[in-house]
Amino acid sequence: MPASSSRSSSAAPLAPNAVIGIVGGGQLGRMSAVAAAKLGFRAHILTQDPHGPAAQVAHQVTLGAYDDHKALDAFARAVDVITFEFENISADALDCLAQHCPVRPSGAILRTSQDRLAEKTFLSDADIPLAPWMAVTDHASLHAAAETLGFPFILKTTRNGYDGKGQARVYEASQLEEAFASLAPHPLVAEGMVDFACEISVMVVRGTDGTTRCFAPGLNYHRDGILDLTLAPAPVQEETAQRAQALATAIAEKLDLIGILGVELFIDRTGTLLVNEIAPRPHNSGHWTMDACPADQFDMHIRAVAGLPLPPALRHSDAAMKNLVGPDDMALWPDILATPGHIPHLYGKAEARVGRKMGHVNILFPYGSLPGALGVQDALGPLADKPETVDNDQ
Ligand code: AMP
Repeated sequence: MPASSSRSSSAAPLAPNAVIGIVGGGQLGRMSAVAAAKLGFRAHILTQDPHGPAAQVAHQVTLGAYDDHKALDAFARAVDVITFEFENISADALDCLAQHCPVRPSGAILRTSQDRLAEKTFLSDADIPLAPWMAVTDHASLHAAAETLGFPFILKTTRNGYDGKGQARVYEASQLEEAFASLAPHPLVAEGMVDFACEISVMVVRGTDGTTRCFAPGLNYHRDGILDLTLAPAPVQEETAQRAQALATAIAEKLDLIGILGVELFIDRTGTLLVNEIAPRPHNSGHWTMDACPADQFDMHIRAVAGLPLPPALRHSDAAMKNLVGPDDMALWPDILATPGHIPHLYGKAEARVGRKMGHVNILFPYGSLPGALGVQDALGPLADKPETVDNDQ
């Protein structure tokens, strides 16, 4: 777990009962608000949904759209520091808020992370290893990308892509124009297809004094483009885990981050690490820390935002985190509650729509004893992957 101190932007730590403003009313805001309350702070949420996951547990709520300047102004005047829990707000709005009180992470960091072109340009300039990429602005650059990257490659929108949305895989030249036309707005980013062995992520936190802390990398499995399962620590070589943490730390320092940042990486077949994307907020793949660490990702984030010291990012247990997505997983709720060892977290969403993250379950294993895939499936009990249906006609 690398820890380092560099450039600082020291500020007095917030006193108990100070108000932490959180832009966004979803589950990340909810779990951040609970972490704030544990540290004696009051969470004030800016959201349009008075009944959403974060509003349910907050001290106060300002109802308003993220571009409603009156609401933004009232919110900023009522809080001592501001953070955000999702990335689809305008960085300009954050800059307006910053005229009243500190915004952590900064609007500049959000501006970088919410635009794939800006993000890749920043990471390339910082010598962070990435899959080969090119900007695609028109038909000429589309064909140039195909020529340079070769087939297959992936076209991605620069903004608002999440859970695999806003992407098209291009396997041959005949698909080029259709893929280009199907994605909007332009410009797009073209990325070489990585033949990855696995996907991991690292949560890194940086405080106002420049201290950085990294949790152990988690190994991530997706289903239908949505995170399904995270195993922590990722079963990779110690050297690979340390390199991933060093990359995350370098990114946090280069960004002058205050708060938490999720860094998603591929490990390719040769063991090379490539950063896929970064998110300056708590991250779904860090939810395992809630039960496996003395200070979890939300505690760490709130501490950083409030200018408090950051404890080491220790874990006392290994963990598996399984997402509960949509009505199918929620149908298993009674079984989950009846399964010893399942630690349930629900987000308070009224309706279990298909593809909607409703909650997650953490399962702990003694430190250093995370089982292999079969053992994990065994421990998942009612949440284990269903065996393939056997077709008796074959
Ligand atoms: P993203 O929205 O960029 O996180 O991509 C969603 C998922 O698509 C990732 O978790 C990967 O499984 C896959 N993916 C994205 N980019 C690439 C790539 N360059 N090569 C292979 N798979 C990718």
